[in-house]
Amino acid sequence: KKTNADLLARKVASVARGVGLLHPHFIEHAENTTVRDVEGRELIDFAGGIAVLNTGHLHPKVKAAVLEQLDKVSHTCFMVLGYEPYVELCEKINALAPGDFAKKTALFTTGAEAIENAVKIARAYTKRTGVIAFGGGYHGRTMATLALTGKVAPYSAGMGLMPGDVYRAMFPNQLHGISTADALASIERIFKFDAEPQNIAAILLEPVLGEGGFYVAPPAFMQGLRKICDQHGIVLIADEVQTGAGRTGSFFAMEQMGVAADLTTFAKSIAGGFPLAGVVGKAEIMDVVGPGGLGGTYGGSPIACAAALAVLEVFEEEQLLERCRTIGEQVKADLNALAKQYPVIAEVRGLGAMIAIELMKDGKPAPELTSALVAKARDKGLILLSCGIYGNVIRILMPLTVPDAQLQQGLAILGESLAELV
Ligand code: PMP
Repeated sequence: KKTNADLLARKVASVARGVGLLHPHFIEHAENTTVRDVEGRELIDFAGGIAVLNTGHLHPKVKAAVLEQLDKVSHTCFMVLGYEPYVELCEKINALAPGDFAKKTALFTTGAEAIENAVKIARAYTKRTGVIAFGGGYHGRTMATLALTGKVAPYSAGMGLMPGDVYRAMFPNQLHGISTADALASIERIFKFDAEPQNIAAILLEPVLGEGGFYVAPPAFMQGLRKICDQHGIVLIADEVQTGAGRTGSFFAMEQMGVAADLTTFAKSIAGGFPLAGVVGKAEIMDVVGPGGLGGTYGGSPIACAAALAVLEVFEEEQLLERCRTIGEQVKADLNALAKQYPVIAEVRGLGAMIAIELMKDGKPAPELTSALVAKARDKGLILLSCGIYGNVIRILMPLTVPDAQLQQGLAILGESLAELV
C-alpha cells in the first residue's frame, strides 16, 4: 500500500528542490471540491490547484467534452492544420472580454506564455520596449515574466537580474498605506526619473493581485492608468490569469473597473484543469504581429479548447457568475464574523469569490501564524493556500460549484484551526 510518507521520500530524492510541495499529500482521485490521497484520506480543496478549478475538479461536462474530443483529434498544431474548437473558443472569448471594440484572440499553454506574448504584441504595436509592472504583482516564472513579477524571494532569488526594460510602480494598498494617488504618482516618478513615456510599450497589472495578496485595484486607480495610457499611447494589459474565468463575480474582473484594457491575458480556470492560456484584445493591436510571430506547438490544443468550451457552457447552465457573487457574499460575511472574534484578522477583502484574510499581530504582518494556520487546517482536512507580499494572507479559492454544506464545513475548519492557534 502506498503512503504519503513513501511518496514524499521519493519526491525529495528525485524531484528538484526548487519545485516545492506545500501539502505532503499525494492525490489519486478528485471530484468537485474533494480530493482523496493515496491513503484514502479525503480533503476539502479550497486551493483549486491555484485558482484553476472554478468549475471544480473534473466537472462532468468538462470531462465528457474532453473524452468526446479524444475520439476525434488530440493534436495537429494549430499553426499547421486547423480545427474548429480553437476558432470557436476565440470567437467566444472575443465576445466575453470587456471593451467596446473589435477583438481577436491568440491561444497558448501557460499563463506566463500568455503574458510574454501580450508584451511582445504591445512592443510590436508601439515600437517601444519598456514595460511598467507593479510591486507585488505576479506574472510567471519564465525569464521575461520573472522580470515583470514584483517579488524577489522565492521566485528569482539566486538567479541574478532578469532581462528587459521593466520599471516597477506601486500598487495601491490601503492597509499598508499606499493610496491610489501614491500609486499613480509612482508612475509619474518613473517618467521623471527612469524612462520617457515614449519608451514605454505597456503598463501591465492584475486587477486584483493574486499571489501578491488579493489586494483589489480601486476602480479610480484603473481609470487613472487608462488615462495615462491614452495620453502617451501606452498599451494597458490586464493580467486576468487568476482573476478571470468568473472568479470575481464577472467573467473578467475588468468589467467592474469602469475602463477596458487593450489586451487581456487569461489561463488557469478557463479550461477547468487543462493547460490553456491566451491573449485577447483590440484587433488592430493583436493583428500587428505577422503570421508565424505568435504561437507554440501545443498552444490551444484541441483537448484544452474542448475543455474551455465546456467550462463556458457550465458557467451559463449553472449560472456560476450569480453563484460566485452569492457565495462570495456568504464567505465574506462568515470571515468578517471570524474577524470580529479574532483581531489577528486585520482585514477581510476581495472581489466576488476571490476572497482573503490578512493576519497581523501588533500591527505587523504575521507570516508564521499564517503558515501554522494553513498546516493546522490541512491536518483537519482543509487545503488552503497562503499568499501576499508579506506571506500573511490566506486566500479562499474554492470551486464555485462547491456544495453549500462543504463550503460551511471548510469555513468551520478554518475557524477551529484559528481558535487553536491564537
Ligand atoms: N499571472 C497571474 C496573475 C498568475 O496568478 C499566474 C500563476 N499563478 C501567472 C500569471 C502564471 O501562470 P502559469 O503558472 O500558468 O505560467
